[in-house]
Amino acid sequence: MKKTKLQEIVEGHHKVEEEKRLRYDLKPTRIPPLPKGEAALSPTTKAGWQTEGIIRAIISNLHNGKNWEKFFIYGGSGKAMRNWEAYYETIDMLQSLEPNETLFMQSGVPYGKTITHQLAPRCVVTNSVIVPNWTQSFQEMVDAGLTVYGQMTAGSWIFIGLQGIIQGTYETMIAAIKSAENSPNYNKLNSFEQNLIVTAGLGLMGGAQALAIKMAGKIALIAEIDPNNLDRMYNEGRDTGTPYLDIQVDSIGEGVKLAREYALKNQPTSIGVLCNAVNLLEYLIRNKITPHVLTDQTSAHDMLNGYIPDKMTYDEAIELRTSNPKKYKDLAFKTVKNHIELMVELQKKGAETFDYGNNIRTQAFKEGCEDAYNFSGFVPNYVRPLFCEGKGPFRWAALSNNPKDILTTDEYAKKLFHDDPMLINWVELASRYIPFEKGLPARVFWAGYKGRAAFGMLLNKLYADGLLDAPVIIGRDHLDGGSVASPYRETEGMRDGSDAIGDYPVLNLLGNSLSGATWVSYHGGGGVGVGYSLHAGQVCVADGTPLTQERLFRVLTWDPMSAVLRHAAAGYEKSVKFAVKNKIFVPGITEDKKVNYLDLYEELCSLVKERTGINLFSPSSSENIRLL
Ligand code: NAD
Repeated sequence: MKKTKLQEIVEGHHKVEEEKRLRYDLKPTRIPPLPKGEAALSPTTKAGWQTEGIIRAIISNLHNGKNWEKFFIYGGSGKAMRNWEAYYETIDMLQSLEPNETLFMQSGVPYGKTITHQLAPRCVVTNSVIVPNWTQSFQEMVDAGLTVYGQMTAGSWIFIGLQGIIQGTYETMIAAIKSAENSPNYNKLNSFEQNLIVTAGLGLMGGAQALAIKMAGKIALIAEIDPNNLDRMYNEGRDTGTPYLDIQVDSIGEGVKLAREYALKNQPTSIGVLCNAVNLLEYLIRNKITPHVLTDQTSAHDMLNGYIPDKMTYDEAIELRTSNPKKYKDLAFKTVKNHIELMVELQKKGAETFDYGNNIRTQAFKEGCEDAYNFSGFVPNYVRPLFCEGKGPFRWAALSNNPKDILTTDEYAKKLFHDDPMLINWVELASRYIPFEKGLPARVFWAGYKGRAAFGMLLNKLYADGLLDAPVIIGRDHLDGGSVASPYRETEGMRDGSDAIGDYPVLNLLGNSLSGATWVSYHGGGGVGVGYSLHAGQVCVADGTPLTQERLFRVLTWDPMSAVLRHAAAGYEKSVKFAVKNKIFVPGITEDKKVNYLDLYEELCSLVKERTGINLFSPSSSENIRLL
């Protein structure tokens, strides 16, 4: 029987699919390599560095992640791509993309491309965005091959490894230390206590606490019940001479004794103690020791598969978890209640105490701990004031794949931000303590309005002037002031009750897209699980052209400005004051509606010239003026 036209089309489609499958099913036996040396110094794609930068960022994520074969990068099941077929197809499409086309990605697979224009993003990414009423079925949709969990920087291809986490932890610890030092309780503590920071949990994220506290100049005393994790953090970085955890002991008394000795010597260090968090806190209270800062990063968000009950070893806990999950959970809840009661007791004695984003207060509250919310979370306490002024995690990575380029940018960062001692301190500590990871060499620090744009344009010009071997990519975590709605974390307790309003990250995304970021992303569920957050990201490839300077000016002005606007809209006075001072127009609040972008552009060019000696592309001497 003669085939109908439709049957022919369908069969033809199946044949193409089969050919593609055979071509793409060649799962590589080793991780796709990142170019090095000479090979890294020029792009191989049709659209040049803009698309080359995206390809290298994808591969870099695989190198920094925990399981490249399955595309798992970090944060549980956070993925960079759906499967190998999607990977090869994406790379192919990016390689042949025209400089005025845009590729669209739907949860880890290419969706299509269209003609846009040269200033538009070359790639638009979405991951794990689910219609709200259906979020409970997210895992079924993943299993059905319809979506993937993109986390924050896994699916948006700007994960730079542990450095990002350490920097955020360092920033938080410094803010907590400052807050503690300004408290009247501080003077009641002896010098040992004034040097001591106590916490628990040395997992993948919590492990950053050890190094960050030491970098902040204090003694970290950290409870960890799993000997394997204790060992891992003890060995991590040891071969390069900068271990994440300096000392590990299996006795609380020994840990406290060492902490005291190091405090007397005024020598910052990190000590991991093999014990349950509650036993360490009980010991401190019994021995009348009050740390000046106290927190916790055990995996208390999950009372069955994360948090460990007391009065048992790690192995016994794992055994009980499978043999009697109900009993396990009952014991875990009893422990967590005691845990928070001990934290509150130490808080009353003068310890600066905060929840570090693991939902531990809520777990204790569920078990009947009435004082559970006596202390608050780290975002309202320490990070929000930075968000109010547009400050957040700013990062860049060297496409040359040569650490030398990052060291050059470190030097220019120190020149440009010479009046920001905290930033300088971080850059110096990071270059001393933090090893470059397996992916592209990278750096991160917190910067805000004006600072990000000035530095971004400077990085672009460093390549144009031949001071870098290849361009850098400039992006950030989705955890930022204007880019996320996450009521249990970044937007907990907003002044106006706007914790769950998802408009803001969409506005941030649209602004960055319209301003010309190289790639933009919009995800659901990062950090806290699908259904609990919505967030957006952007990355720009600083390819050294005047046009890119224009893009960077726009993107890196809007991105932090959206944080100021978001917080001003929520009624934060700090943001309003900042907006007035920096001539940011806030409808209904600031009076001056006329924003002179050319003035701002020229101000940033002069700043860069004055502090670094680098001449940015001039707005008045080139065709760029028309764009402004
Ligand atoms: P993880 O599961 O890798 O590590 C948790 C560690 O805590 C494990 O090593 C475990 O053995 C230990 N632990 C559990 N119960 C304990 C107890 N009672 N006493 C002593 N040790 C105990 O988790 P992670 O990735 O390190 O994250 C830790 C927590 O922090 C999670 O709840 C996570 O959601 C949260 N988190 C917060 C932020 C933030 O921005 N503040 C970022 C990432 C993760």
